[in-house]
Amino acid sequence: MIKLLNGTNALITGASRGIGRGIALVLAQNGANVAFTYLSSPEKAQELEKELQGMGVKAKGYKSDASEFSAADTLITNIIADFGSLEVVVNNAGITRDNLLMRMSEEQFDEVIRTNLKSAFNITKACQRPMLKARKGSIINISSVVGVKGNAGQANYAASKAGMIGFTKSVALELGSRNIRCNAIAPGFIETEMTAALAPDMVQQWRDQIPLKRGGTPEDVAQAVVFLASDMSSYITGQVLNVDGGMLT
Ligand code: NAP
Repeated sequence: MIKLLNGTNALITGASRGIGRGIALVLAQNGANVAFTYLSSPEKAQELEKELQGMGVKAKGYKSDASEFSAADTLITNIIADFGSLEVVVNNAGITRDNLLMRMSEEQFDEVIRTNLKSAFNITKACQRPMLKARKGSIINISSVVGVKGNAGQANYAASKAGMIGFTKSVALELGSRNIRCNAIAPGFIETEMTAALAPDMVQQWRDQIPLKRGGTPEDVAQAVVFLASDMSSYITGQVLNVDGGMLT
């Protein structure tokens, strides 16, 4: 197997479960060393760290709240001290707090914006310094089809994911001249704990809209991350790649 990311150091936020975990494993399969964060699942993080190390790459999990501005600087400083450099950052950490607008509380709105959108600002701002120095970097933001088309009951989540797309395009414009690329991935319906929480009739509604007639897997998203992280996409920046089984077609 050709290892597209041999010797690359990558950070994935929120990798203890779901899509983030899948991204960590597939990046490691492609030769990347993996730094990752978690918040409330220390055992799962420890398991992942061991599994990644067993694949022959350097790996370390850091407990770090992506929504905390000051935590981002500490995190990136620690990663540079442990790994030496950082070429790839995947802003993946995310939550849902679904409710109809009529019932949505200010806390539900703020929590989702802080965890999903402000986290990308926090981490990207902190990682740009070492990337600017190295004149190399690929930042990948995990948005959602919901950020492109909206979804009833998810006004907070849709706003955060649409915000990530505007953020991605702006960062791409600002950092392109320094050889730092920034792209977003908009996954569709991916089978993780996040979607397991949905009502069965809503899951069926989502599935019915997918031309490929199946939900996606974390690995489906991870393969797109490998592409955007590697030199295979060296002339691609400021784009949104839909990984959705054709849902938005
Ligand atoms: P998930 O299974 O619920 O996993 C969420 C991950 O984020 C966990 O590892 C969790 O860590 C971490 N996390 C949550 N809040 C955090 C914080 N403040 N700081 C650091 N880490 C935090 O979700 P998922 O389905 O894998 O989703 C991953 C990303 O893909 C999210 O951004 C989501 O919006 C996006 N997405 C998912 C789908 C889908 O269908 N599943 C579709 C489109 C987009 P702990 O467990 O350690 O707290």
